[in-house]
Amino acid sequence: MTYPHVQLLIDNEWRPARSNATLPVHNPADGSVIGSVARAGIADLDDALAAAAKGFATWRNTPALDRSKTMRAAAVLLRERADAIARLMTLEQGKPLAESKGEIIMAADIIEWFADEGRRVYGRLVSPRALNQQQMVLKEPVGPVAAFTPWNFPINQVVRKLSAALATGCSMIVKAAEETPASPAELIRVFVDAGLPAGVVGLVYGDPAEISNYLIPHPVIRKITFTGSTPVGKQLAALAGSHMKRATMELGGHAPVIVAADAHIANAVKVIAGAKFRNAGQVCISPTRFLVEESVREEFVAGFVAYAKGVKVGSGLEAGTQMGPLANPRRLSAMQQITEDAIARGATVAAGGERLGSSGNFFAPTVLLDAPLDSAVFNSEPFGPMAAVRSVKNIDEAIAEANRLPFGLSAYAFTSSIKTAHQLSTQMQTGMLWINQPAAPWAELPFGGVKDSGYGSEGGPEALEAYLNTKTVAITSI
Ligand code: NAD
Repeated sequence: MTYPHVQLLIDNEWRPARSNATLPVHNPADGSVIGSVARAGIADLDDALAAAAKGFATWRNTPALDRSKTMRAAAVLLRERADAIARLMTLEQGKPLAESKGEIIMAADIIEWFADEGRRVYGRLVSPRALNQQQMVLKEPVGPVAAFTPWNFPINQVVRKLSAALATGCSMIVKAAEETPASPAELIRVFVDAGLPAGVVGLVYGDPAEISNYLIPHPVIRKITFTGSTPVGKQLAALAGSHMKRATMELGGHAPVIVAADAHIANAVKVIAGAKFRNAGQVCISPTRFLVEESVREEFVAGFVAYAKGVKVGSGLEAGTQMGPLANPRRLSAMQQITEDAIARGATVAAGGERLGSSGNFFAPTVLLDAPLDSAVFNSEPFGPMAAVRSVKNIDEAIAEANRLPFGLSAYAFTSSIKTAHQLSTQMQTGMLWINQPAAPWAELPFGGVKDSGYGSEGGPEALEAYLNTKTVAITSI
């Protein structure tokens, strides 16, 4: 499959923008233009809104079992097309082919889980206070949803939202990332090809602010869901709030990693170093602030640095590549600035710390030691292949530092003590805590943050609840 000119999907028709405007798409491995994406204007958004309203009327009245069958058929198509779609994802986003394929296979799994869970959306009967009464609690789809998704997991970020919406009977307009448009379009194509009725899903690209400013207040849209940075999330949540729209916000994190003196260090290194450099660290749950008890610091750092230095960096299309380029030049300059700031404040660079080559957005796997707590790396999410390691005197100090920041998405800890594990599970201010293991964000587990990392969940039964309204009905027979 060659890289396409990506189109909009409106009312089950793949089409250019009415103005024919497009945006270029770049390959982050060499900066070349590989294709284009249609840039929707307001007239296209109006078409998409009309289609979403129509699609909602159809889909909400489609039995849950039939919705489930269509979703399952889409998952089958996605698996069949995984190799071709993985290539598109790597071309536009940069991650190694194996990671692209893994993301697609996991997406099929997510679709199937939601297809099943959607069949188990139940209301309830509540005991009435009189014999001639009946009291019911009904669950109804919230309505057409506007979804805004980023470039780091072009398919995963869409599929979690779309699957929950479809399972509950909602229609959705997806505004996927302009930088990585082809793979989400192929995700949506499998639903259309599987028989999803017209208007149930729409796909637009364009100017993100123009689209969100138009869709969020629009009366057709009843809920918004956004994954991206905390500053943008706060703007969109404020807009949603001022129009009384329900919202799910999956925002930035700055995940602490606590390594206790009683941890199995070899396991900790293996688990967390692999997690750190996945998708070149451009992961909202990427481990970033490493807080290591003094007695095991030397052993942990030695193992972690050795791993970082051994990561094979290159084009995601090349066999054997373990880490690709950063997805866009913004991340490259961010890595350079964060590194310079840490060095200026007295940190040591134990691995990497520099750009690799002069074409493409390659940055070396980087380990910074002893950056002070007021350095950029200990305060702003690096969102790149960068780990900052500091010693802590004890677990209390580690927890205090972990909780210091306004973020609370994911956290990691390594310990062999059940007492420490219990303390961490009760005291960490985080949406997800993984102890002695990498993150396992399966569809059946809630996925979401607290504090500035957002609200709402994109996994487990909670994810469906976010797309449902609750209606109380009481009937008296007279
Ligand atoms: P950004 O803040 O400009 O954009 C983040 C995402 O929001 C992008 O997908 C963008 O298209 C979208 N966006 C921006 N303005 C918008 C608007 N007004 N309306 C709707 N959507 C809008 O940052 P960026 O340079 O693309 O990414 C950098 C930062 O974003 C990272 O440091 C990270 O904190 C965060 N990020 C988080 C995730 C995540 O999975 N939570 C994913 C990507 C980026």
